[in-house]
Parts: sequence; structure tokens; C-alpha cells
Amino acid sequence: MPKKPDPKAAGDSRPPRSLDFLRTILEDDLKTGRFQGRVQTRFPPEPNGYLHIGHAKAICLDFGLAEEYGGLCNMRFDDTNPTKEEREYMVSILEDVRWLGFDWGDRLYHASDYFEQLYEFACQLIRDGKAYVDSLTATQIREFRGTLTEPGRNSPYRNRTVEENLDLFERMRNGEFPNGTHVLRARIDMASGNLNLRDPVMYRILHASHPRTGDKWCIYPTYDFAHGQSDSIERVTHSICTLEFEDHRPLYDWFLENLGIYRSQQIEFARLNITKTILSKRKLSRLVKEGYVSGWNDPRMPTLSGMRRRGYTPEAIRDFCAKVGVSKKDSIVEAQMLEHSLRRHLNQTSPRVMGVLRPLRVVIENYPCDQVEELTAINNPECPEAGVRKVPFSRVLYLEREDFMEDPPRRFFRLAPGREVRLRYAYFITCVGVVKDEEGRVVELRCTYDPATRGGDAPDGRRVKATLHWVSATHAVNAQVRLYDSLFTKDNPYEVSTGSDFISNLNPDSLKVLENCKLEPSLADAQGGRRVQFERLGYFCVDSEDSSPGRLVFNRTVTLRDAWAKIRKSRKKATRKRRRGRR
Ligand code: ATP
Ligand code: MG
Repeated sequence: MPKKPDPKAAGDSRPPRSLDFLRTILEDDLKTGRFQGRVQTRFPPEPNGYLHIGHAKAICLDFGLAEEYGGLCNMRFDDTNPTKEEREYMVSILEDVRWLGFDWGDRLYHASDYFEQLYEFACQLIRDGKAYVDSLTATQIREFRGTLTEPGRNSPYRNRTVEENLDLFERMRNGEFPNGTHVLRARIDMASGNLNLRDPVMYRILHASHPRTGDKWCIYPTYDFAHGQSDSIERVTHSICTLEFEDHRPLYDWFLENLGIYRSQQIEFARLNITKTILSKRKLSRLVKEGYVSGWNDPRMPTLSGMRRRGYTPEAIRDFCAKVGVSKKDSIVEAQMLEHSLRRHLNQTSPRVMGVLRPLRVVIENYPCDQVEELTAINNPECPEAGVRKVPFSRVLYLEREDFMEDPPRRFFRLAPGREVRLRYAYFITCVGVVKDEEGRVVELRCTYDPATRGGDAPDGRRVKATLHWVSATHAVNAQVRLYDSLFTKDNPYEVSTGSDFISNLNPDSLKVLENCKLEPSLADAQGGRRVQFERLGYFCVDSEDSSPGRLVFNRTVTLRDAWAKIRKSRKKATRKRRRGRR
């Protein structure tokens, strides 16, 4: 990843950047030598689904901060729940982190690497009288737990002797008991105001194979018992996580303190939420399992694999994460802001090409029948090094159906009977006739061209009000093009009427498939993942799953219209107005 310029570097007179709360903590710790000047973070996904853009924010913080402060970031799978985890998820997670541009070196860990050590920790707490085997049922445990307003009650098994607890716990490990008959709990305080401290479960019996440890274990630590200790074992300095773990921090600290082991500093930040989308693996998994989308990597999904397939770049995602920043307060970010970052990067990097999505045949009557010209087109006006290419021009072309109106309203400046327009990089043409089918639908336009306007400029200086994209009919390659809209209709998809859930807010028009789109021939061999801008239409990417030699499939990544710029402008205006009002 490119390094940020150092503001202290010679010649840079910018004021020092203001620090967010995370960086403030890190810099303070570095100053005071709290962790001997070390910065060690980790990214700890549970391998129970594919990563989404919310995880990208966490990844950018975990790996990004380590990089920024000369530290290291571990990649760790919190794989404590064998029933929900699959190898497929682990593979995709690693691929996604790498794609975002981060590297864990040789530090790929698993909570399951620590199962033996965690078992030892549990025995230590039992020996110290700080953990006990409880034999209440799950329902009873819930009942005994109390509520936010009522204290919990002690289990009748809470006072088992150390010997009995050690014996039972060992027999749990040895597989002597069926699922659900016993659990190991921490002995903390059933009256604590923090429900997490009311004798939380540390181990449960689960006769299930684990993707990594196989059948070695039939008891598994809970996430709460594994997480803090895993951080401790890896000597993580700053354990950055989302706000929902704030109430768990006292528990993690209790474990570390009572075990007398190395203590990391947990710091919480607000989760990323984006309008018209959901960021929860569990809910995204429902969309996949119930067939609302074609898979985890459906280009409409907010998963990193879906976004990659759609044409997002890692740079755009990192830029967005940096712009969103970190805070302690939950909020919802506009999807347009993400698209803004995407457009910015694609604008600089995507070659321009011409493609016609809804073709209308056009015959240039005064152009010789068998003539073909190779016209010069600029690949990327934002990047002169991208050079030029040749585009064939001939007598029969395709134009975009919506660029023509037989009876145009006042503000329609594109092609109409008798009107002259420019064809990009080619000629001025004038519409001289319209051919219709029996139902009166326009099926062909008859036009003439002005040979003197080759390249797109009239020597006599006359002007036209529109420049259209086009493709030569005999040279065009066919493609299927998929247009996407947001997956949900509401900004907050969880806002539902009683009796329904977020599924009811799915957008029925989130996917539109266009067949027989006509593209310029330079795209004939375009490979999966290739990103281009179709002039005037948007950014598109060759679908990496469904495209094959001879069958081109393009995904529209994003349109050209930048709604975020507008939103920002109107917000600035409103703020200025408010300020003026206050004065
Ligand atoms: P999900 O609810 O989607 O399953 P999770 O929190 O269970 O998410 P984990 O696999 O436990 O997912 O997450 C790994 C890391 O990513 C955690 O540190 C978690 O806090 C962070 N993370 C998950 N979702 C978001 C989000 N929307 N914004 C920021 N960070 C997130
Ligand atoms: Mg989770």
C-alpha cells in the first residue's frame, strides 16, 4: 500500500492532522511506552460467512493502523463454534483480505490453535475456585440469569468442590456426557449489573467435528472465553473491535486478571452501516440460502467477493473506509459516498470504450457500402499514458435507442428527424428518415454524414448539441449486460411493519438483464475482471463467473452520475445557512 506522506517531512508546511480517538490512544501508548513501543493488532473474523464492507472497515483499521505505526497485524480465525464454520469461508476470507491489499506475513492463527491452552486456563480457574461445572439445563440457566432490572440467582451447583469440578470437567472433555448436560461457568457474580458477568458459560459440550481439530474435542470454549485469551497469547497490544463488545470488556479483563496473564487493551468503535444494505453475515447468509441472490458473490451483495465481481477496486474501498473514519457513535453512511470513492478511482483507471446497451440500427446512406475506416479514440482522457486505439466505422451502426426521439420535447438535444449530432471520434450525422415496423415501432434510422467532419469537428465551426456513442454493426461484439440497483428499497432495511422482516424490503428491481448489447470489437477477448467505462453510460466489469470465450457478460459497476457530490454541496449550503441564521 502506498505510504501516507509524512507531514513532518521537510518542506511540508501543512498543520498536523487531527487524530481520531483510536490514533490518539495509540500515540499516547507509544509516547508513554505502555507496550514497550509495540503496536500489535489482529483481525479476528469468525469463519461463518463471507466478509462484507463492514469487515473492510475493521480490516483497514486493524491492518492499516499497524502499518501506520510500524507494527504488525495478525490474521486470526475465531473458530470456536464448529457447527457454523466451513472451510469455504476461511478460504474466501483470506482471499478478500489479500485482495484489499493487506498481508499477515506468517502470522495466520486460529483460536483453535489454542484449545489445549484454553483448557489449561479453564482448569486453572477451577483450581482457584473461580469456575464450576453447572448441570442446569440451558433453559434453567437462562431463567436463573435474571434480567436487566432483576439480579440473577445462584445455581444449586455453584458450590461444587474443586475436586468434583475438575473431575466433571475432565469427563466432559472425555466425551462421557451428551450435549447440553453440563457447562463450565465462571464464578463471578450473579447479581452483577453487567449480565456478561453473571457466571458466563466458558465451555459447552458439543459432539461435533471441527474443521481443524477434527474429533479431538467434544467441548468447545465460548467466544467470550476464547477471545481475550487469544489476544493475550498473541500479545496483541490494541484489540480493536466493534461497540457491541464494550459490555464484554469487563469479562475479558476479569479472565485475564484472574489468570494473571498478559493484558491487551480492547478499544471499541461504531460498526459501519450503509443505506439500503445490510451488514450482517447471518442475514446475508439468509439471502444466499433462501435464493434471493445467486450466491455470496452476487454482484448486488455488500460482500467483498460480490463487490469485487461487480467491479469495485480495493483502492476505492480503502479510500471509502478512510473517509468514513472512526467514531464511538452509531450512524448510517450513505451508499452514494461509497460510490463516490469508487467513481473517483475508476475515473482515473478505467479505459473508455463504446458500447450500446439498447441498440437501434442506423444506416448512413451516403457512406460507401464496403468502406471501413479506422478512427482514433482516446483510451483515457484522465491518463495520457493510456494512449489511443482504433475503432472501426462503417455504413451501418448502432446507436443507443434512447438517444433518438421522433418527436422530441424542448430540452431533448440528441438525435431527432432533421437534426444533426456528433458521433464520438467520428463524424457529424443528420437524421433523414425513420423506418418503422408494423406496430409503428422505430426499427431503423436513415442518416447522412458530413465527410468534412472526420474526427468529430466541423471545419466551418458549426456546432451540434450532442455527442453520441456508437458501434459499427458488422464489427460489434454481442454481450449480456447486467444492470444493478440497490438490494433494498429502504435506507434502513430493518425498518419493517409488524409481522414482516427485512426480506420484505428487498428491491424487486435490483437486477435487470439486457441481452444483445453491442460493444466495440476491442472488447472481443475481454477477460473476467476487466474494468472499463462505457462512454456516457457508466463503469462496467466483465463478470468473472459467467463470462467465457464467445460469451461476454458485463456487470454495471456504477453509473456516471455522482449523487454524492450533489448531496455534499446541498449539505454545505444548509450548514452555511444555519450558521448565518445563528449569527
Ligand atoms: P456479522 O454480524 O456480520 O457476522 P461479526 O461481528 O459477527 O459480523 P466477525 O467475523 O466476528 O463478524 O467480525 C470480525 C471483525 O470485524 C470484528 O472485529 C468485528 O467487530 C468487525 N466487524 C464486523 N462487522 C462490522 C461492521 N459492520 N463495521 C465495522 N466492523 C465490523
Ligand atoms: Mg460474530
